[in-house]
Amino acid sequence: MAPSSSTDGPQVPRHSFAAAAGPLPDPVARQVAAACRGGAEGPSILGLSFVSERYKTLQRDTEAALRRLLGIPEVFRVLFLSGGATAQFAAVPLNLLAGGRAVYVESGHWSRRAREEAGRYGVAIALAADVVAEWAGWRAGPPPAYCHLTSNETADGVQFSDYPAVPVPLAVDMTSDFLTRRIDFDRVALAYAGTQKSIGVSGLTLVIVREDLLGRALPATPRVLDYARQAECDSRVNTPPVFAVFVLKAMLDWIEAQGGVSAMADNARRRSGAVYWAVDDNPALRAFVPPERRSRINPCFHLADPGDTAHFLAAAAAAGLDDLQGHPALGGIRASLYNGLSEAAVTALVGFLDAYAPRVSARAA
Ligand code: PMP
Repeated sequence: MAPSSSTDGPQVPRHSFAAAAGPLPDPVARQVAAACRGGAEGPSILGLSFVSERYKTLQRDTEAALRRLLGIPEVFRVLFLSGGATAQFAAVPLNLLAGGRAVYVESGHWSRRAREEAGRYGVAIALAADVVAEWAGWRAGPPPAYCHLTSNETADGVQFSDYPAVPVPLAVDMTSDFLTRRIDFDRVALAYAGTQKSIGVSGLTLVIVREDLLGRALPATPRVLDYARQAECDSRVNTPPVFAVFVLKAMLDWIEAQGGVSAMADNARRRSGAVYWAVDDNPALRAFVPPERRSRINPCFHLADPGDTAHFLAAAAAAGLDDLQGHPALGGIRASLYNGLSEAAVTALVGFLDAYAPRVSARAA
């Protein structure tokens, strides 16, 4: 929470509900700030060499914390990479496609982007989410090399409540719901996520990949994107994003202290439930995603009269609630509820949604 910088009138606490990146909880932000300054524990983290023992220990401890929190089986490797989930849109087909074809479950904006990128390296078949189980293509001809899924569509406000059981390795983009729910590693063979939303800052991408999938990369695969090579080099084929790894470790410690992944999942269920409840209860607002597909992380909705959208956003900003506009490609309103968002922010948002009335507010303005 940051106070308003306005000098006229009382200060309004400000809260950001941005989708692109999530806030760090206050204690984590303070810990990171202290580590940037440096002190008794060592020089500033900002100048830390990736070949130093201090960094290697940090990366080892971070991986151990991740394995503890998610119960990652030993047969999976954890990679600390750069380039965002967007680089993984290329890395997944480069590492797994092996000249074959892959199936991309299409549920919205980001799964489409992943499929389009994969199509540059081979055949990427688009499959609607509701036909995955009964798709005849699983058994017609040689099986697809893998199936790709976006567990939470950040832009569309749509989330899979479960990972589907498919007869080929399942690769999942978890960028916007990583560490907000448990992962079923019996179904998921590869998970990847940028860390900037619920577990830290931008610059770091985690890849958790089952060992038997290593070593199939196309010969032209860039070394930094080659999972087997990164695994051999402990994710240090090139300079890893040291600062972002430090912030991730601080977030993992904070999540563990809060009660782990189940506590984050409970938060997501409770907070999104309160937002959808307020939206469904307000005739000026329309949650357009069917209840069983609604995202617990990025609730999206429209104004009943889309002409009121600008008014809604202005009234929200006046109440200290920022960055509620929907994805540029989709419009409407989106409230992102990442792990680090404070309870005060959620309470303020729900209070605003409960009270929002476009015409009354417009007259009062
Ligand atoms: N996948 C999903 C689900 C996302 O939400 C995003 C970013 N919003 C991306 C991929 C792309 O991430 P990046 O810009 O870090 O590459």
